Amino acid sequence: MAEFTMELSDEQKEVRDWIHGFAADVMRPAAAEWDEREETPWPVIQEAAKIGLYSLDFYAQQFFDPTGLGIPMAMEELFWGDAGIGLSIVGTGLAAVGVLANGTEEQIGTWIPQMYGDADDVKVAAFCSSEPDAGSDVSAMRTRAVYDEAKDEWVLNGTKTWATNGGIANVHVVVAVVDPDLGPKGHASFIIPPGTQGLSQGQKFKKHGIRASHTAEVVLEDVRVPGHCLLGGKDKLDERLARARERAKNPGGERVKNAAMATFEASRPAVGAQAVGIARAAYEVALDYAKTRVQFGRPIIDNQGVAFQLADMRTQIDAARLLVWRASWMATTGKPFTSAEGSMSKLFAGETAKKVTAQAMQILGGNGYTREYPVERMHRDAAIYTIFEGTSEIQRLVIARTVAGVPIR
Ligand SMILES: Cc1cc2nc3c(=O)[nH]c(=O)nc-3n(C[C@H](O)[C@H](O)[C@H](O)COP(=O)(O)OP(=O)(O)OC[C@H]3O[C@@H](n4cnc5c(N)ncnc54)[C@H](O)[C@@H]3O)c2cc1C
Repeated sequence: MAEFTMELSDEQKEVRDWIHGFAADVMRPAAAEWDEREETPWPVIQEAAKIGLYSLDFYAQQFFDPTGLGIPMAMEELFWGDAGIGLSIVGTGLAAVGVLANGTEEQIGTWIPQMYGDADDVKVAAFCSSEPDAGSDVSAMRTRAVYDEAKDEWVLNGTKTWATNGGIANVHVVVAVVDPDLGPKGHASFIIPPGTQGLSQGQKFKKHGIRASHTAEVVLEDVRVPGHCLLGGKDKLDERLARARERAKNPGGERVKNAAMATFEASRPAVGAQAVGIARAAYEVALDYAKTRVQFGRPIIDNQGVAFQLADMRTQIDAARLLVWRASWMATTGKPFTSAEGSMSKLFAGETAKKVTAQAMQILGGNGYTREYPVERMHRDAAIYTIFEGTSEIQRLVIARTVAGVPIR
């Protein structure tokens, strides 16, 4: 009989401590520099690849941890190290999840290794769904993929925006409209192989936080990819579209999932875990500072006003982690998200990171506001966690519609 336990296994603790060592020894010392440079920290990614931390094998091992805690544990430690570098290391994972969620076994085996490259020649990947006029509202997507039957090729045209690793990726996963009459049900995901003609990087964004992570537009002009680059394959797409068309005629019928939603559902708890890592890092700095900073003849933590803030910070971080772990455990053990538990975890963890990092800055006083201390960077980094992978408002919308029993869209 399965025993309930909240204790990590010895093996999980070993992995966690190993990642923590890399985060403390390699990421932390490099964090301020890459934040200032606003460039992809290739040397740090290479270091991670050398020790096997940036590799398909590592993520596969964590992904297949039967408790579901492998990925959130890894994310929390990496983002405790630094969020900008952390996202540069794990950004490829979003594209990999896109392939895992929608691809065939052959596609998974062919493309995911090319997303990571190897220790001597590291590569990154990008997942491109958002567009200038289609952020929260994915149904407004315009990028078109048209099938050229004579050549068994798909032709893609459009502009993607906000793509993490967009334009510098070896492999891009692009979500496009294949049937405009079906809204998000008429979307499909495509692999754009390395060196494909017609794909180019547009504007690279200068950001508030996570500045070591590359975010850019991706422009697709008559991009031709072979038929086998359609994730899941043509037969499965045709079946799915037929069901969606049927349902459009008969709204009471079986529901059809769309490709981008499948990716987001699977990745939300992992994103929540990243936010937990940032919040924990800022809390630890604030706790140390509060114990050593003396004002009015005593450490500032002796003031209840400061101590209670730390108590609330710690409580919220632990609560966020528990929501993340629950959602990851549910996803891994095949329990359906009946109350949008994935969205709950991302919502609460993202909001917690933003709040806790702001409190940490307050506890550090003037020092908290300077780049001499890391909490202002952590606060800038945390701010993205209520925006990307679905804003907090969209998470609330998903939770509200799920508990109300009405369709999400
Ligand atoms: C640094 C960064 C990295 C990113 N990485 C990627 C990536 O790798 N791949 C990718 O595809 N995308 C990526 N994104 C895009 C990200 O997911 C979107 O920015 C996000 O989904 C929000 O879309 P938007 O920016 O268009 O905002 P909008 O959708 O325009 O929202 C603006 C505001 O309106 C609110 N709002 C919108 N609709 C509603 C509603 N119905 N009810 C209540 N409030 C609402 C939102 O919550 C928000 O506060 C990234 C973004 C950033 C900034």
